[in-house]
Amino acid sequence: MLKRDYETQTCSIARSLEVVGERWSLLILRSVFLGAHRFDDLLDALGITRSVLAARLQRLVDQGVLKRVPYQQRPTRYEYRATAKGHELWPVILHLLRWGDTHYPEPAGVPRLVEHTGCGGQPDDHLLCDRCGEALTYFNTTARPGPGLIAAGMAAESRTKTRRSGLGSAAREEPSR
Ligand SMILES: [Zn+2]
Repeated sequence: MLKRDYETQTCSIARSLEVVGERWSLLILRSVFLGAHRFDDLLDALGITRSVLAARLQRLVDQGVLKRVPYQQRPTRYEYRATAKGHELWPVILHLLRWGDTHYPEPAGVPRLVEHTGCGGQPDDHLLCDRCGEALTYFNTTARPGPGLIAAGMAAESRTKTRRSGLGSAAREEPSR
């Protein structure tokens, strides 16, 4: 039985948010869509603690949004893949991405470019390809870093270099929690 965070609400939006409104849950799903499937890859991609990641993954698995798929035997190891129910959240994430691009733009440009694979068109307001008109889904699109993400990566790299040179070789970057 799903814990109810919004007990007074008889509302499908509230019910949905009980699954994906928790901090990190949609970002975990985003990272899975971007190709991070294994626990340690998700840990690197998100910079959260192991216990929080484990708890959120378990909840998404319990709710049938993600599934565990074995990728290795002896010992058996699992990776996380979106289920059909999980893939139905891809348009939600795409609309959030487009909303953020519009209202909270990065000075250097969009952080992520989503393109119709093999066509190069981009999603329009209805998530149709703006070049050929085909309906876009997780399965026929490719995401790659945009100018905003590339600029942020270069800035982080130069900050790290500055800090390391200032503090000596013992200085280590700790991920922020
Ligand atoms: Zn297209």
